[in-house]
Amino acid sequence: MLTARNLSVSLSGRPILHDVALSLQPGEVVGLLGPNGAGKSTLMRTLSGLLPFSGTIDLDGQNLAAISDRARAREIAFLPQARAIAWPLSVENVVRLGRTPWRGLGALSQNDLAVVTDAMEAMDVAALADRPVTELSGGEQARVLAARAMAQTTPILLADEPVSGLDPAHQMTMMAAFRRLAGERRALLVSLHDLTLAARWCDRLIVMAEGRIVAEGKPADIMTGERLREVFGITAHIAHDECGLIFAPTGLAKHGSALKESVEEDPHPVSLPTRGRET
Ligand code: ADP
Ligand code: MG
Repeated sequence: MLTARNLSVSLSGRPILHDVALSLQPGEVVGLLGPNGAGKSTLMRTLSGLLPFSGTIDLDGQNLAAISDRARAREIAFLPQARAIAWPLSVENVVRLGRTPWRGLGALSQNDLAVVTDAMEAMDVAALADRPVTELSGGEQARVLAARAMAQTTPILLADEPVSGLDPAHQMTMMAAFRRLAGERRALLVSLHDLTLAARWCDRLIVMAEGRIVAEGKPADIMTGERLREVFGITAHIAHDECGLIFAPTGLAKHGSALKESVEEDPHPVSLPTRGRET
């Protein structure tokens, strides 16, 4: 559906992404992980068609660079990490903007309005429909913008740290909504910093560091203690239950001894019951 090969991107003359390759298939939620500065946002912006790149991005057999803005907006919705909302539009009118690639600025059909209502309900912002977005809390604004992206009803949704700043219930509400979209054969790429949320709600994870993909696969296969030390610079307690893995970061991995066990140096070790293993 979306396939990138040999993707390299430079910004302000600095090479940022190096030879990235990935593909997204209908029906999957793919988590994009990596420390700050790894290149996650740059990758998502590139896949959304917002940055010049070398290499190829193929969208259903078409070259992304050759597709018109409007046609691309019917294929790919992008929820950026920055959530600047400048105008005091109502929540409903912001979500209605998601229909622009389909309707332009013309009147919305009954179907469009139903899509808008569904998206607001999925993000639990229907009760806020008439409020000016500029008066909402940061987390509420984030949910409104996610609803707008969902209302675009694209086969592909790229969401950059969509759950950052949300309370735990709304983090899971959002991940559950993404899973429902995947159930409708859409493809989602979601960047996250919460390892537990990523492991439990994503089918597959891609880990980036320093502008490259350094690991890719099922959460249980790639989210090892060694990888947490080497890529994320942390030690963690890793447990699992019937819903998947649980990560509790316990300390900073020491530089130069990335492979050394250092959990015991954490002054406040977290202990989880059942089947846990320290890493
Ligand atoms: P992430 O989203 O994984 O935290 P980003 O993709 O935002 O990382 O950034 C990756 C790297 O690119 C960082 O080192 C950042 O400083 C750099 N970068 C981002 N935007 C620009 C820019 N406009 N010009 C130069 N460097 C940039
Ligand atoms: Mg980012």
